[in-house]
Amino acid sequence: MPDAAIPLILGTRNRKKGGELAELIAPPWEPNPRLARLAVQTLDAFPEMPEVDEDADTFAGNARKKASETARVLGRWVLADDSGLAVDALDGAPGVFSARFAGTHGDDEANNRKVLELLASVPDERRGAAFVCALALADPEGNIRLEAAGACRGRITRERRGPGGFGYDPLFLIPEYHRTFGELSPLVKHQLSHRARAFAHLRPELDRLIALGVVG
Ligand code: IMP
Repeated sequence: MPDAAIPLILGTRNRKKGGELAELIAPPWEPNPRLARLAVQTLDAFPEMPEVDEDADTFAGNARKKASETARVLGRWVLADDSGLAVDALDGAPGVFSARFAGTHGDDEANNRKVLELLASVPDERRGAAFVCALALADPEGNIRLEAAGACRGRITRERRGPGGFGYDPLFLIPEYHRTFGELSPLVKHQLSHRARAFAHLRPELDRLIALGVVG
């Protein structure tokens, strides 16, 4: 008999982020029969789930809060991601305010415009930035069982470049590739990104919890 599917909720309503999380949890370039059992759903399947107030002052704090509150309400295992952009010349802003930097939650266009405007007079050598990702896994009672983090360094361009990705991707240049995440393919982003690095830490730990029968 094949091993049973393991339900896991991805604690986001952001479709593009949810897509990346689903692709990174059991990626084809790292075949793993235990992780392949995970059957993921995003919060789109749970319209009754109230918004979690992301009021912590760190990415890790917000990831824990999202995972824990969502798990308690739904009574399921939940993996949450809190992530964002930290620009050196802006002392780490937008940071935990990345999704609502220009005022409206999730307005990528306005957020990108604001970053470009704030950096208009900043020379190329001072346009360094990092994408940061914190992951947290909560059990159905809301206890945090795993955490992982990852970061990716790059440089902020002077204009949007490329149609791919989401959020600040069109502004985030990977100097070694001479391309932004908006121009690079999802496969390349999945090797280099903050989220990819956090998942590289999380996957072996999650695999261990499944092997032990804690998850599943
Ligand atoms: P969160 O849903 O509160 O974690 O908000 C994350 C925000 O950070 C998004 O709305 C994006 O603006 C930004 N962000 C996080 N990860 C990425 C990424 O991989 N590419 C581009 N922007 C990102």
